[in-house]
Amino acid sequence: MRFVKHTSIMLGIVLVIIVSVTIFQPSFSAFMPTAQQGVIDLREWENANSAIVKLDGSWRFYRQHFTHSKPGYDAEYVDAAFIQVPGDWKHAEYGTYQLTLLISEELKDKSLGLYIPSVATAYSLWIDDEYQLSNGTIAPVIEEVIPVNYARTVYFEPRDTTIELTIEVANFVQRKGGLWEAIHIGLADDIALLKEKRIAIELSIVGALFMMGIYNIFIYFLRRRIIYPLYLGVLCLLFAARTLLIGETFMIRLFPAFPWELQVKVEYLPIVVGVYLLVKYVNHAYPMSRLRYFEKVVAVISLVFALVVLATPAKVYTQYLSLFVAVILACLGYIGYAFWRAYQEKRVAASFTFFCYNLLILSTINDALYFMNVIHTGSFLSAGFLFFLTSQTFVHAVRFSEANMQVERLSKNLKELNLSLEKKVDERTVELSGLYERLQGLYAKLSKSEDERKRLMSDIAHEISTPLTLIKGYSEALVDQKLPLDAKYIEIIHANAITTERLIQDLSDLSKLESRQMKMEFKEVKVKDYPAYVYEHHKALAEKGGHDFQWVNREQWNEAAPYDKFIVIDEVRMNQVFTNIIHNAVKYTPKEKSIYFAVEWKQNEGLIFKIRDEGKGIASEAVPHIFNRLYRKEALEENQHRDTGNRGLGLTISKEIIDIHGGKIWVDSVVGQGSTFYISIPSKS
Ligand code: ADP
Repeated sequence: MRFVKHTSIMLGIVLVIIVSVTIFQPSFSAFMPTAQQGVIDLREWENANSAIVKLDGSWRFYRQHFTHSKPGYDAEYVDAAFIQVPGDWKHAEYGTYQLTLLISEELKDKSLGLYIPSVATAYSLWIDDEYQLSNGTIAPVIEEVIPVNYARTVYFEPRDTTIELTIEVANFVQRKGGLWEAIHIGLADDIALLKEKRIAIELSIVGALFMMGIYNIFIYFLRRRIIYPLYLGVLCLLFAARTLLIGETFMIRLFPAFPWELQVKVEYLPIVVGVYLLVKYVNHAYPMSRLRYFEKVVAVISLVFALVVLATPAKVYTQYLSLFVAVILACLGYIGYAFWRAYQEKRVAASFTFFCYNLLILSTINDALYFMNVIHTGSFLSAGFLFFLTSQTFVHAVRFSEANMQVERLSKNLKELNLSLEKKVDERTVELSGLYERLQGLYAKLSKSEDERKRLMSDIAHEISTPLTLIKGYSEALVDQKLPLDAKYIEIIHANAITTERLIQDLSDLSKLESRQMKMEFKEVKVKDYPAYVYEHHKALAEKGGHDFQWVNREQWNEAAPYDKFIVIDEVRMNQVFTNIIHNAVKYTPKEKSIYFAVEWKQNEGLIFKIRDEGKGIASEAVPHIFNRLYRKEALEENQHRDTGNRGLGLTISKEIIDIHGGKIWVDSVVGQGSTFYISIPSKS
């Protein structure tokens, strides 16, 4: 998604550049006359006010003759041939071009201008036999020629409807000679504007290339590990310098003494070296496993050509450079292949790169056709090259920003990972410390239960031994006839045997309950009915002990009891609980006092029974222990438990039974005032 966004942004920028460059292009006239046999008819040129016309076509040409610079020289004695302009004059060294322009009456009084782009390599210009200007110095011998190569403009006012244009050209230094670029004519203002536009375009290209060059080199110095921005940067700077020396040759305007040979070297070297740099750049930025040797071959060829350019004069090396075109074509093919692969591999902004590369190829083809005079579109190579370099700079920006974003993402992930690790470590620490505490607790419990077990064993032994000692004592005395065979002694023996039996039964029950091995017989009982059953069932027990057993809230219960609730209980075991509580109440309460029974329903807790006595109560320090096995407060205070039949197991068994039912049992007690036992049984609803 981000890639699509980047690409569309970059495409937008490219479109803006294309549009702005097109605006800067001169507006040529739709009227395109052609010179024929040295005459060009411009009389039909109606909208001369807004358009520029090229003086293309067949000019008169005096090969190896100057018609004007040698006064008194008679042109009629020389063969005038016709030559195609723009075009190469093919192996001439010097000569004279002539063209007769036919203009309309209206144009006669107007100020006109000629734009002469680049003439290889020195010329002088006459209009109607009146000397106008020279670029460099022309001469028929090489020693006297001073080549100068930059675009010039000349302004004039035609005296008649016929204008004679004479250009003497000399070239001993350049492979291609003569008027090889189209000469433009227009109103003086238009020609001036054309020149300004061209300078503006070229300077903006130079500026853009320069900035991109600096930017890429800067990027390389910041991140030396990645070398390809350096190649791109150097390439940009080389072409910025080249652009200053071709076309409008702005540099020569600033420094007219700039040597022509050097100028041409600066024009050609960037191409020779640039091709190699470009291949190197592509190999680094879009690495391919195969075709590695290609770079080396190009390096050798480029080096050889660069040495030739540096060591020989333009006349020599410009001859050989046409050979270099083959290298350029091979490189363009190779680079295209690399970009195509990158596109297929869906590399960052590869489709954009491929698109801009195709623009470059198109502009190259355009320029080739343009310079071969097949089409008349103008030169777009610089713009194409600029687009291409711009696209690569953009691609780097995208790459770097992607890398940056990746780093950001990674560091964020890392941070999160760190945080979660820290959190995990904290959690584990807490868990471990919790575990440690639990282990400590477990250890404490274990040692406590081990103590308890020891105590229990001794308590049980003590409990059982007491009635057994009595049984043994009485029965021995009876056998030895130390006591008379009286029923009351037999009863004592019987009572103690029952006590022992109960104790053993209780202990067995408790151990089964605690290990959840006691067989329970659960059944559903209606909440509404159960309290009455409990009350009626245990009333006799209380009354037999001489107590009034009162249900304090019977009426309210009957009114408010929930009709649709159930509890699931083992009735026999629950009876065991109530019997034990009521039995205790009877046991610890003076005879004349009542025992109270109450019941209520709470949504969260279920059915709650309250059994209150007005007996002696339980000391607060004893309360936490009364549900423990064999705990008998009385046994600690006074050694009378046998009289009351205490076994200290009733409440423990009760608690286990209630636990199995999912309920709770607890007590409120005040010494001297009595105790209230609570039992809650959760409902099944
Ligand atoms: P025991 O067989 O000794 O009654 P329990 O487990 O039933 O054994 O009771 C444990 C102890 O709790 C008793 O020894 C007694 O001290 C105390 N206790 C229980 N119920 C009452 C009560 N209603 N009033 C005073 N103390 C009580």
